[in-house]
Amino acid sequence: MARIECPECGHVEETTGLVTVCPECSADLRSVMAEMGHRREKLREVAHDDSMTTHEFIVRTKDLHKIYIMGEVEVPALKGVEVNIRRGEYLSIMGPSGSGKSTLFNMVGGLDKPTKGTCFIEEVDMAQLDAFELAWLRCRKIGYIFQTFNLIPVMTALENVTLPMIFAGMSSDEMMDRGAMLLDLVGLGERLHHKPYELSGGQQQRVAVARALVTRPEVILADEPTGELDTTTGRQIMFLFQKISIEEGVTVLMVTHDPVVEEYASLVYHLGDGTIEEIIEHPENKILSE
Ligand code: ADP
Ligand code: MG
Repeated sequence: MARIECPECGHVEETTGLVTVCPECSADLRSVMAEMGHRREKLREVAHDDSMTTHEFIVRTKDLHKIYIMGEVEVPALKGVEVNIRRGEYLSIMGPSGSGKSTLFNMVGGLDKPTKGTCFIEEVDMAQLDAFELAWLRCRKIGYIFQTFNLIPVMTALENVTLPMIFAGMSSDEMMDRGAMLLDLVGLGERLHHKPYELSGGQQQRVAVARALVTRPEVILADEPTGELDTTTGRQIMFLFQKISIEEGVTVLMVTHDPVVEEYASLVYHLGDGTIEEIIEHPENKILSE
């Protein structure tokens, strides 16, 4: 829980999430919230894993288990998964439907908690964070991409891309410039003011990639981002991840059932029935495939 005080009317909001506007006087609370987030980020160092001396890995999981309880039945979805992701790596978790990919995505993204084991982002144990700190970490450190794009239908491409910056407390000028630059990067420089229904599936997913990058996150997480796309468009999205990981140094973790990823990701972990069965390195994919 965080205590955010409005500088205009003095109203105090106790919150577990991110609040951008004062509920009393509608004052802009972005800068207050950003300052609070940065202060909490410093305090969070108490949750660091002292056994690691360097931040070699941006994401690390240790003996990760997840058991879903369905009434009387226990469903073990992850059975001791260890993943180590270096900065700037393009790592894919590949496995068939039901192997635990989305479960792992949710744990690493701080969207659900493991039953046992630990998940670290920059050596911070996510389980040690309170709700506000977790909301802040999700907002500043992680960019999310989903199978169904999840764009807001009434907003233009540029508005969709800049939306996370509002919650991250960034300024309007910075927002517009960075939003337009990223849409250009993903090949949509001519489509800034198009709404999602005016764009193809592949273009919508490109908007989602730009949106995921907008707050300069440490890691991009993508869950079956090519699941709704045809093969050629799916390849273009996988290539785009390769491009941003090589050219922008962004760390990408993509979970997919699509074997085509072997041609793009630099490291592929094969997941089967909740365990990592094989790890295949693709050093050749550290050079752009197209
Ligand atoms: P994937 O994304 O690889 O298809 P999931 O992580 O979605 O796999 O699921 C792994 C296993 O956990 C499956 O057996 C699935 O049925 C089960 N599972 C996933 N989510 C839940 C849930 N919320 N409650 C119960 N069981 C679940
Ligand atoms: Mg899934």
